[in-house]
Amino acid sequence: MADIKIPLRDMRFAMRELLDWDKHYESLGYEEATPDLVDAILEEGAKFCENVLAPLNQVGDQQGCTWKDGEVFTPEGFKEAYQQFVEAGWPSLAHDPVHGGQGLPPSLGTLMSEMVGTTNWSWGMYPGLSHGAMNTLEAHGTDEQKETYLTKLVEGSWTGTMCLTEPHCGTDLGMLRTKAEPNDDGSYAITGTKIFISAGEHDMAENIVHIVLARLPDAPAGTKGISLFIVPKFLPEADGSVGERNGVVCGSLEHKMGIHGNATAVLNFDGAKGFLIGPPNKGLNCMFTFMNTARLGTALQGLAHAEAGFQKSLAYAKDRLQMRSLSGPKNPDGPADPIIVHPDVRRMLLTQKAFAEGGRMLILLCSQQVDRLQKGSDEDKKDADDLLAFLTPIAKAFLTETGLESANLGMQCFGGHGYIAEWGMEQNVRDARISTIYEGTTGVQALDLLGRKVLMSQGELLRKFTKVVHKFCQAEIDNEALAPYVTKLQELNKQWGDLTLHVGAKAMENPDEVGAASVDYLMFSGYAVQAYLWARAAKVANDKLAEGAGEADFYRAKLATARFYFDRILPRTASHAAAMQSGAGNLMDLDAEHFAF
Ligand SMILES: Cc1cc2nc3c(=O)[nH]c(=O)nc-3n(C[C@H](O)[C@H](O)[C@H](O)COP(=O)(O)OP(=O)(O)OC[C@H]3O[C@@H](n4cnc5c(N)ncnc54)[C@H](O)[C@@H]3O)c2cc1C
Repeated sequence: MADIKIPLRDMRFAMRELLDWDKHYESLGYEEATPDLVDAILEEGAKFCENVLAPLNQVGDQQGCTWKDGEVFTPEGFKEAYQQFVEAGWPSLAHDPVHGGQGLPPSLGTLMSEMVGTTNWSWGMYPGLSHGAMNTLEAHGTDEQKETYLTKLVEGSWTGTMCLTEPHCGTDLGMLRTKAEPNDDGSYAITGTKIFISAGEHDMAENIVHIVLARLPDAPAGTKGISLFIVPKFLPEADGSVGERNGVVCGSLEHKMGIHGNATAVLNFDGAKGFLIGPPNKGLNCMFTFMNTARLGTALQGLAHAEAGFQKSLAYAKDRLQMRSLSGPKNPDGPADPIIVHPDVRRMLLTQKAFAEGGRMLILLCSQQVDRLQKGSDEDKKDADDLLAFLTPIAKAFLTETGLESANLGMQCFGGHGYIAEWGMEQNVRDARISTIYEGTTGVQALDLLGRKVLMSQGELLRKFTKVVHKFCQAEIDNEALAPYVTKLQELNKQWGDLTLHVGAKAMENPDEVGAASVDYLMFSGYAVQAYLWARAAKVANDKLAEGAGEADFYRAKLATARFYFDRILPRTASHAAAMQSGAGNLMDLDAEHFAF
C-alpha cells in the first residue's frame, strides 16, 4: 500500500505562489521566517510525519487506549514519538520566545499541524489540544501562570486539554454545573464531571494542564456565570517540577467509532485545586480563544482526511485492474484496464483532490490572518479579525463536511476492499466522522455564521469578504483565460448578497427562518469561498504557463482541477440556494408528535 507523502509541492503552491507568504512574513517583521528556514521546517516536519507518525496510524486504531485504575496507556509507539517530537522542538515552533518559544509565525505551526494530522490525526490531537491551552494562557493568564504552566506547555513536557462538555450539556454550555468554591489561599476547589475530554488522560507527558469551565458560587445563571480555571493533574512545585496529585481522576474512557488512538476521557473533579484565568464570570469569553484555535484545528482535520484518502485511492486506482474503458482498452496487454480510466472513478478522485487542495488554500488563508492578528498594525489586526470571524465557521463546518465526503469517496474507490480494515480506508472514514460534531457541530457553526457573524453585523463581515472577491474579479475582468471563472464568481458574489437579504428579511418576521436556512447558507458560502480561491489558483497557473516558468504539468493539473471544481462541484450552490429560499415552513409545520407517522 502506498505510504502517505506530505504534499510539499502543493503546500508551497498555496503558501508561496497563491498567498505570497515570503512577502507576508517580511512585511509583518517575521525576520527569522526566511524562505530557507521555512523550507527546512517543511522538509524536516515531513520526514518526521512520514517516518514516525504514519506507521503508528493503524497501530493506534487497532490498539486504542487502555484504562486501568484511573491511568491511561496510549498505543505502542505513541509515547516515544511524542518524546521525539518534543526533543526536536516542534511544540515551541510558533510560540513567544519569552516563554521558551521559537517566535515563528503561527501559520508555520499550521503547516506542521497539517502534516501531523494527515499522517496520524489521533496522535496529533495530544499536542493539538496543547496549542489551544497555550494560546488561552498567552492571552488571559497572569505572569505567574504563564511562568508556571505556559513554559512547560511550550516545552512540550506537559500537555493541555479543553474541559467544557458535561453529560447534560455540550452545545448549551450555559447549563454547565461544575462548581468552583474559593479556597482560603486564593485557589478554588473544582467539583464536577466533564465528559468526552480529548487527550484527557495519558502517559505521554509528565503532567496535564486542564483548562476547565466552572461556576463560582452565586454566579449568574447561563453563559454569563461561567469562569475559567487551570486545573493541573499534578500540582506544580515552586521549582517547576511536578508535585502532589490533584483531585482530578479519569473515571473511564469512551468507546467510540474512530480516533481510537486518542483518549476520550471522563474526568471527575473532586475538590481539585484550580486557579482562575481571567476575570470571574468571563470564562466563556476567555475560552473563545481556545475554541477559535480548536475550530481552525478541526477544520484542518477535514483537509487531513481528504488528503490521506485521496493519496491512497489515487494509488489504488492506478493499480487496480477492473473492466475495460468505455472508449476502448487502455491496457490492452493486461486482463483489464486500471480503474482510473473510468469516468466515475475520476469523478471521485477529482472531488477529493479539489476538496483537499481547496481546503489547504482556505486553511492557509485563515492562518495568514492569524499572523496578521499577532503582528500587524492596528488596521491590519481589525481587518484580519473581521475576516477570521467570518471565515472560521465556514472553514470548520465546510471543510469537515467535505473532508468526510472525501473520506467516503476514497473508500468507495476501493470498492469492497475499502470497507475491510486492511487498507486503512474505513479507518479514515471513521476517524473523519467526529470532525463535523466536536468543536461545535455543523448546525452550530452555521448559526454562528448566519446569525452572529452575518445578520448581527448587518452584513458587514460578508460585504468585507465579497469586496475582496469583487476586487479580484475587477482586476481580472479583461483576462480572457480567466473569463469562465470570473463571470461565474461575479454572479455568485451577487447571489450571496441577495440570499442574505432574502433570509434576513424573512427572519424579521420569523426567527426560525435563520435556523432553517443556516446550514444551506453555510454550505453555499463554503462553495463560494472555494470558488474564489480556485479562481485565484487558476490565475497563478495560467500566469506561470504563459511565462513558461517550468513544471507545466503541475500547473495544467491545477487548471484541470479548477475547471472540474467550477463545472462539477460549484453547481451544488443552486440546490443550497433553492433549499434556503424555500423557508422554514417545510421544516416547522409538522407537529413533533407526527414525525413518527
Ligand atoms: C470524540 C469526542 C471528543 C471530544 N472532545 C472534547 C473535548 O476535548 N472537550 C470538550 O469539552 N468536549 C469535547 N467533545 C464534546 C463535543 O464538543 C460535543 O459532543 C459537541 O459540542 C456536541 O455536544 P453534545 O454532544 O452535547 O450534543 P448536543 O448539544 O446535545 O446536540 C445534539 C444535536 O442537537 C443539535 N443542536 C443543539 N442545539 C442546537 C441549536 N440551537 N440549533 C440547531 N441545532 C442544535 C446539535 O447540532 C446536534 O446535532 C468531544 C466529543 C467527542 C465525541
